[in-house]
Amino acid sequence: MMRLPHFRYRAPASIEEAARILADEGSQAMLVAGGTDLVPNMKRRHQEPTTLVSVRRIDALKKVANGAGLTLGAGLTLSEVVGTGAVREHYQGLWEAASQVATPQLRNMGTLGGNVCLDTRCTYYNQNYEWRKAIDFCMKKDGETCWVATASKRCVAVSSTDTAPALIALGAKARLVSASGEREVALADLYNNDGIEYLTRRPDEILTEIVLPPAAGWRSAYWKLRRRGAFDFPVLGVAAAVRAAPDGTVEDARIVLGAVASRPVVTRAGELLSGRKLTDEAIAEVAAKVATRAKPLDNTDLEIYWRKEVVPAFVGYALRQIRGDDMRATRLRIARQSLG
Ligand SMILES: Cc1cc2nc3c(=O)[nH]c(=O)nc-3n(C[C@H](O)[C@H](O)[C@H](O)COP(=O)(O)OP(=O)(O)OC[C@H]3O[C@@H](n4cnc5c(N)ncnc54)[C@H](O)[C@@H]3O)c2cc1C
Ligand code: SF4
Repeated sequence: MMRLPHFRYRAPASIEEAARILADEGSQAMLVAGGTDLVPNMKRRHQEPTTLVSVRRIDALKKVANGAGLTLGAGLTLSEVVGTGAVREHYQGLWEAASQVATPQLRNMGTLGGNVCLDTRCTYYNQNYEWRKAIDFCMKKDGETCWVATASKRCVAVSSTDTAPALIALGAKARLVSASGEREVALADLYNNDGIEYLTRRPDEILTEIVLPPAAGWRSAYWKLRRRGAFDFPVLGVAAAVRAAPDGTVEDARIVLGAVASRPVVTRAGELLSGRKLTDEAIAEVAAKVATRAKPLDNTDLEIYWRKEVVPAFVGYALRQIRGDDMRATRLRIARQSLG
């Protein structure tokens, strides 16, 4: 049986109190929301915080506010995000991403904030302590070598969050609060392409809100590749959002790839699609170009060359869905569920 290490547990009732605790405790403290990633990680000694600061009692993190766009509190569970009418109606790509995270039980516990701040993953890392010790650990925790790329000075563990690519494609911002103030950053800027320092968030900052811009004119979609339809982390995620004129001419577009680097990969989709219609030819050409940005490595599930080869097909599925094609049969074949 894998046991948790010893830690102190704090459960503040407000963002201010949580921020004060983080400021006092320093980088040895960590936030915990649903605990669906952090708790198993602690059992495997990936993270060993001396203090856990739970955000579950903080009602302010459960906010859903319709303004010019939509504000979602970081403490909302993924089930609550999926159940939010405005998400379903206006931010389809986010709805599809959140709907495909893990299992219903994990979506009932796991939060939006925890998903956005999810630790990076790797075959040589997501193992128990004894397994990792047997290979003399690795650079991400307790060791010195990267077993995926032995000459690499950087850990190349994979960004495996489903919602982040979808949120970035939708133009989301993240609000971060600490005892010394608050700031808002484009969500894309929350990530580093580094498997260890994968967030630009400081340890004393709390992600409080995700702010989505107005969705008028935009259509979005999220397509996920994973081994099992019932639950599994993505080995590829394609999030697309397109704004088109009434005659179908694309005015703006964003395509973001997940699970192919240590951060969600923003592509040049806007430049490639603007002024064109989503014809079969345009979709095929753009999908092929966008796919060159995917650099999967041999540190996650499924065969690496095949994972790269299928990227254009998945970009094509997302764009065809946005064009209005009936993709239900393809979705059922790929996701092995209809997504309602
Ligand atoms: C079997 C299994 C399958 C899974 N499948 C998927 C999947 O398909 N797709 C996927 O994306 N995820 C998957 N997950 C991971 C996880 O369940 C989800 O990502 C979930 O949304 C994490 O949220 P949480 O609230 O449980 O995060 P926690 O485990 O509580 O925290 C995760 C990280 O986020 C930080 N954090 C949490 N809240 C905040 C905040 N407000 N501000 C700053 N930092 C914060 C924590 O300190 C920690 O580093 C899976 C997990 C399991 C066990
Ligand atoms: S990419 Fe390398 S350093 Fe990072 S977790 Fe995997 S083996 Fe370790």
